[in-house]
Amino acid sequence: MPEPSVLSALVAALRDGSVEVVDLTSPLSASTPVIQLPPEFGQTAVFELEEISRYDDRGPAWYWNNFRSGEHTGTHFDAPNHWVTGKDLDDVASVPARRLIAPAAVLDLSAEAARDPDFLVEVDHVKAWEAEHGPLPEGGWLLVRTGWDARSHAQEPFLNADENGPHTPGLSSRCARWVAQESPVIGLGVETVGTDAGAAHSFDPAFPCHSYLMGGGKYGLTQLRNVGALPPTGSVVIAGPLPIVTGSGAPARVLALVERS
Ligand code: MN
Repeated sequence: MPEPSVLSALVAALRDGSVEVVDLTSPLSASTPVIQLPPEFGQTAVFELEEISRYDDRGPAWYWNNFRSGEHTGTHFDAPNHWVTGKDLDDVASVPARRLIAPAAVLDLSAEAARDPDFLVEVDHVKAWEAEHGPLPEGGWLLVRTGWDARSHAQEPFLNADENGPHTPGLSSRCARWVAQESPVIGLGVETVGTDAGAAHSFDPAFPCHSYLMGGGKYGLTQLRNVGALPPTGSVVIAGPLPIVTGSGAPARVLALVERS
């Protein structure tokens, strides 16, 4: 009998459904919501397809497109060089491949975010999670479920902006610093348009998740969906950003492996 191998056991589990693949990726189309900055700043592109040919005189047997997209459009990966605090750290193509497969801790604060769209995760919320589920995974992701993926079909409810700016949940500045500097995770994953809360433009520092995480060589994953299908512990995230050389991030297919008993 050959030694049972980890990968053959995984393949068998994927085949029989005892390991389920959960797609955490939002579909990428022209209607995928994108972040909107105040008008004095540069703006990211929405996703666009440009047809090259579709079984026609431009290419009789083939269909293909060019596309245009922001690096930070749709479900995407934030690399450390996205923020000025991490400007000398890794670009998205330099992130080591082995760091793209990692365990996830899932913190469900959807009830809190449903009551208050400006809800902020504090260190105490994470500590309470750890008291119940154990320490955050070394080299893993902290995924914060807020239920915001239910709004991802359209720009307006997703950004949830009024004359004072966007109202979306996120982390407090203190919690962002703790995750970046004191926790063992490599990154933060969220369901909102960016890792920071809607009101984070006026936090100290501004956009603390970006500032602290990127500055600490950590990563972000945004516009995730189906995070609610993951258990608090035990899932494995596979994040596949396009390896854009010198890029600050990239659209990513993000999958999770979940063991079902
Ligand atoms: Mn981003």
